[in-house]
This record gives sequence, C-alpha cells and structure tokens, in this order.
Amino acid sequence: MGLLKPVGILLAAVLILTGCGNESSERNQDNGKLNVVATTGMIGDLVENIGGEHVEVTSLMGPGVDPHLYKATQGDVKILDSADMIFYNGVHLEGKMTDIFEMMSKEKPTIAVTQDFKEGQLHKVSASEHDPHVWFDVKLWMVAAETVKEELIANDSDHEASYLENYEAYVQQLKELDQYVHDQINKIPENQRVLVTAHDAFGYYGKSYGLDVKGLQGINTLSEYGSKDVTDMRNYLVKNEIKAIFMESSVPKKAIEAVIQGAKKQGHTVKVGGELFSDAMGEKGTEEGTYIGMVSHNTDTIVNALK
Ligand SMILES: [Zn+2]
Repeated sequence: MGLLKPVGILLAAVLILTGCGNESSERNQDNGKLNVVATTGMIGDLVENIGGEHVEVTSLMGPGVDPHLYKATQGDVKILDSADMIFYNGVHLEGKMTDIFEMMSKEKPTIAVTQDFKEGQLHKVSASEHDPHVWFDVKLWMVAAETVKEELIANDSDHEASYLENYEAYVQQLKELDQYVHDQINKIPENQRVLVTAHDAFGYYGKSYGLDVKGLQGINTLSEYGSKDVTDMRNYLVKNEIKAIFMESSVPKKAIEAVIQGAKKQGHTVKVGGELFSDAMGEKGTEEGTYIGMVSHNTDTIVNALK
C-alpha cells in the first residue's frame, strides 16, 4: 500500500519527461546510432561489444556502485526515457528499479539479459529467490550475449550482419576466457579452493570453476550482517585454516576487517587476498573496466592468494 504513492509520482515524472525524450531520440537518429541504456557496467560492456559502431551505450551504474541498493535518480529516468532500448540484468539484481522497468517496457524494448536462461541455469537460493550474479559463469554470459545479439537484430535489422559478426568474435573471446579461468583455478591446491568474500556474489563462479564460496552477507546486500555472521565466519576460517579472504569494490570493507581481527585474536592469521570486482567493474580505461578484464583480474587475484 505504502508503495502506491511514490510510484504515482514517478509515473507523473516519466510522463512529463516523455515530451523532451523525443528530441534526443531524433538527435540519435541523426548520428544513425541505436541509443542503448544498460544498468550495470558488465551489461553495458556486453552491448558495446556486440553493438559495435552501430550503438551508443550509456551504463547507469559506474565503478563501485552496488546494484542491489541502487535507486534511479531523476537524471537516470530522463536517460532511460530517451533511450531506444534498455538492457538490465533481471533476477532482481536491480531490486529497487522494478517499477521503472515495468513502465519503460510499455514504451520501448526493455530487456533482461537473463530472459532466455533455461530452468536450472539459475541457482535457487530459496523458494522464491534466485542468485542474480550470473555474469561470473562465463558460459552463462554467452547465453546473455546471444540474447543481446537477437534483440539488437530484432530492433535494428539493417545492421544484422554486423551484430552477427561482432557476436561471433566476442563469443570466441568468452570461450577463451572460460578456459583461462578453469586452467588458473586448477593451480590452487584442492584443499585451498575456498573463496571467502563480503557478500555472496561468486556462487556461479564457484560452481562453474570448482571453488567453495562463502559470503559474509547473503546474495544481496540489503540486509546488514550481524555479529553472529562475523563470529561464524571467523570460526569457519580458523577451523579450515583458510589463508586469505577478499574485499569487494562495491561493498564496504568494515565487515571483512572485523572477521580478520576476530581470527587474529584466536591466533589465526588471515590475509586480505586482494580486491575483487563483484557487482561493478573497475574504472574505464583500466583492465578491470571491461568484463573480460574484470573476470581475469578476479581470477588472477584469487589464484595468487590461494595457490
Ligand atoms: Zn551482489
């Protein structure tokens, strides 16, 4: 019930903004490019790779931004409103943007890159909840790539050949990345293949590449961790003689530091294995500023700390 009022206001805002939206659409028709808005940097990177020179991509969530907590600003609504197409993750990753996607879907193609995943490809975490961090299984990200390719062709058939060619080339790179991650993780001694992080972003990664994964917070960052979570994690590290745990660029570091301090008091030294990019990519222009660079960086960081 309490939700009704803000949605109404938002809808009004969207309707007002629709007027100005048309102008920017026309502007984009001028440069001939498809104006695409993506939520996360990973999705923006995927669309850029497949869309190539025929798309102009804007990603709403930059480095260090947590998509679970992200609320669209007025400026974002304007950007979404002037887009020709919108791509988002789905599986409730962008939990606070559901209403906006629903509204936008009435006006333009608004596509979850996970829409073509088959039953069983998504990890169930409870009766009603699935793990949204699908991009860390590179094979699943290829399914998302195919969806992006299909949707770009469906909405801009003039450039079908180009989208197909870009897609084939990018999938080849993803296959090589997938093999790289397998090969690297296999260098870690089997009893050290445990990945401990601030929140459960690496479930797909762990399952695909053979690591046990433990996060201090659950699969989203909405609920605060408690002192019991810190104690449980500390006990787990001490008991299993885990050497390293990892920070995440989009999650505050306080929780992981509390666990390290706790273990230290019990005489077990845990080091910080490094910083992983989980729910947001790194700065543009750096290695971690692309999807392939992000996955490679995470893999190298994990392997160096645990092998
Ligand atoms: Zn997450």
